[in-house]
Amino acid sequence: MSVRISNDVLQVFNPVNQEELSTLPITSLQELNEKLHIAKTAAENYNFSSFFRRQKLLSQFRREIVKNMDAFVETICKETGKKEAEGLMEVFISLEHLRYAVKNLYEALGPQKRRSGLLLTKKAWVEYEAMGVAGIISPWNYPLILTVSPLAEALLAGNTVVLKPSEQTPLTTELLKKVWDKATGMGDLFQVVYGAGEVGSALVSSSLTDVICFTGSTAVGRKIAEVCAPMFKPVILELGGKDPMIVLEDASLKRTVQAAIWGGMSNAGQTCISVERIYAHENIYSQLVENMSASLKKVKCGVEDSEVGSISVEVSLEKIKNQIKDAESKGEVIQNGAITEGWFIPPTLVINPSPDSKIMQEETFGPVITIHPFKTDEEAVKLANGTGYGLSASIFGKNRKRIRKLSRRIQAGAVSVNDVLTHYGIADLPFGGYGLSGIGKVHGKEGLRAFSRQKAYMLNRVQFGSEIWWYGQGDFFRGALRKFIKIFYA
Ligand code: NAD
Repeated sequence: MSVRISNDVLQVFNPVNQEELSTLPITSLQELNEKLHIAKTAAENYNFSSFFRRQKLLSQFRREIVKNMDAFVETICKETGKKEAEGLMEVFISLEHLRYAVKNLYEALGPQKRRSGLLLTKKAWVEYEAMGVAGIISPWNYPLILTVSPLAEALLAGNTVVLKPSEQTPLTTELLKKVWDKATGMGDLFQVVYGAGEVGSALVSSSLTDVICFTGSTAVGRKIAEVCAPMFKPVILELGGKDPMIVLEDASLKRTVQAAIWGGMSNAGQTCISVERIYAHENIYSQLVENMSASLKKVKCGVEDSEVGSISVEVSLEKIKNQIKDAESKGEVIQNGAITEGWFIPPTLVINPSPDSKIMQEETFGPVITIHPFKTDEEAVKLANGTGYGLSASIFGKNRKRIRKLSRRIQAGAVSVNDVLTHYGIADLPFGGYGLSGIGKVHGKEGLRAFSRQKAYMLNRVQFGSEIWWYGQGDFFRGALRKFIKIFYA
């Protein structure tokens, strides 16, 4: 168990040893509403605050996170079952995104000059404005990154925030809130609510939230889209994935195998951009299967002295076990050890499972990779694009022209060449998916703009008593406009 939910409390457990970690009160709907009113009131000033002030607050926050680095790593590992190196990576990537967003705020959201075209007497520009109150909902698999990154973007864009962490992993956010309050003394700008879907749903449907940023499953993302659509409430949806890796016949086998195993197994495969499906050219397929199987058996999973940590959430554990069981009857399954006690799933490779197997139809979100052969590039693209998800993808090979052509046909928000997952750490790149993987972007300048409204401005450089297209110009205007159209656009 990682959480027990009763009427008014979340009881949080360590998934590795089931030790009880803490108990937090669930936020009542009345408390949620009070927090939203506080956020709305705070937004009246903060929405119009200077970039300098926002940058100062977020820099203070960043420094305080660094001071509490060890406490963050410990809390993340305890409530998710991650390995220490994985907890540390989470702190590092969170800080890198925070650093980037602070540094590039003016470039992303400062006034942008626009050409006034034929209207030479006019000056035109665009400004980015805060939306108001941002409601942020996060999942359990990266409790720090997936909280800090949208939080920083929303606050830097001038919004106040009410955030709900996953009920499975609320302790990292509890610590984050303490750190924010200590660093800034501005508790009203960022508030936290605790609970499961009911609290999230109330945050989404409230008339007091002006934008929703949701990271989580496609099923819940769809529900949120349905609630926001009739209200025309802007929504950023960062949803599930089933990322493909295409391996061409000239790929470096050593790098491909290591990348696939790290990309599929790190964080016990509980990463939205994990490598879940490999499509290898038929000329390299058998060799790749052999090398992958051999390498997989060197990756250890368990409590002590191992690379792959625990599955964090019980429902996820059951789903992965079910997919593997189903795959055993539909393809060959290679595993490094058997599933025994605890919440550990040994690194698993499923060879050529049939298209109707559960593992080919659902997101796995565990340390399991499938592998299939392909003959032509067209077939590889079709297979890679065949699930409806489109978060990210990778292509391994040497021929740059061929890779370029392939990557443009892959329906995904990101394509990495001869690498996996690492694009997430490049803070200047926008992140977000196609199709069932969601809409909108976080990270990069696009992430800051996603929490902003664009306003177009125009003023007169030179001002006359009236304009020639206003009333009262008679035939002169019509005649002149006819001539102009013929000369200018013909
Ligand atoms: P989930 O959808 O079950 O829950 C996510 C959050 O939504 C939780 O905080 C939950 O309490 C809340 N929630 C549940 N029902 C709700 C409702 N009706 N209205 C509002 N909020 C509601 O997802 P999860 O199991 O926590 O996370 C795993 C999923 O997240 C996977 O599918 C994974 O691929 C995806 N994910 C995507 C990204 C990305 O950036 N695209 C990143 C991490 C995880």
